[in-house]
Amino acid sequence: MRVHFSLYTEIWSNVVVLVVDCWCLKLVMSCLEYLITNFSDFQLACLGSFFLHESVFFLSGLPFILLERAGWLSKYKIQTKNNTPAAQEKCITRLLLYHFCVNLPLMMASYPVFRLMGMRSTLPLPSWKVISTQVLFYFILEDFVFYWGHRILHTKWLYKHVHSVHHEYATPFGLTSEYAHPAEILFLGFATIVGPAVTGPHLITLWLWMVLRVLETVEAHCGYHFPWSLSNFLPLYGGADFHDYHHRLLYTKSGNYSSTFVYMDWLFGTDKGYRRLKVLKSDACEAERKEI
Ligand SMILES: [Zn+2]
Ligand SMILES: [Zn+2]
Repeated sequence: MRVHFSLYTEIWSNVVVLVVDCWCLKLVMSCLEYLITNFSDFQLACLGSFFLHESVFFLSGLPFILLERAGWLSKYKIQTKNNTPAAQEKCITRLLLYHFCVNLPLMMASYPVFRLMGMRSTLPLPSWKVISTQVLFYFILEDFVFYWGHRILHTKWLYKHVHSVHHEYATPFGLTSEYAHPAEILFLGFATIVGPAVTGPHLITLWLWMVLRVLETVEAHCGYHFPWSLSNFLPLYGGADFHDYHHRLLYTKSGNYSSTFVYMDWLFGTDKGYRRLKVLKSDACEAERKEI
């Protein structure tokens, strides 16, 4: 009887997955069909990408400002210090200025490169296998390029004149992820676009990569480590606790330079301080438990 039950549940879950899959695919296809017939390639790749980026970035980042102001879920906050409303507002104003004056022109300038490398927005869509392989490749390549770029930004002159802007917020919140000097936006922006630029993806793949990368960096700066945070389940994923450590230490001692994963810092020994702190914390917890 138990065997039958598990068989039925398996069949039903497969049917549900198939229906949802088809429904999602149909929805994506009809949305894309509408966009292709009503907008030019340039409009979609530049203005469409910009609009999508702004929506995902602000919708995912703003809730963390609300959480900090209201003091909700404070037991999951990594640092006890809070940002002032003036500091939060300064971040938003500066972000809007840079997004319109740096990010948008950058997207427009890189369009011919993407076209040259074979980017397309026509139907049919690539298979999920192609999309997921390309996105995974972008994450690995971005993490590698970002790691070295970020380490260079922590040298004395570049830190003082460029990267210190991003480190103005020692207690980061979601939106501070993109708060940086325009030169850094151009410099590290290269890490984000190099993957798509060399593979010439479908526009859908490019948009999926952009959405996931924005969500990842907002989460890394959110200032909260929840029981449901991805770093609790994905072994090589850095997450908020990992990057928060980078922000709260002096620039020469910070370490944890990677954007998404933890293995680059482990390989090059730049996470030693962080790992030592983790050991100390878990020892302290263990001692506390024994006392109880
Ligand atoms: Zn840094
Ligand atoms: Zn940061």
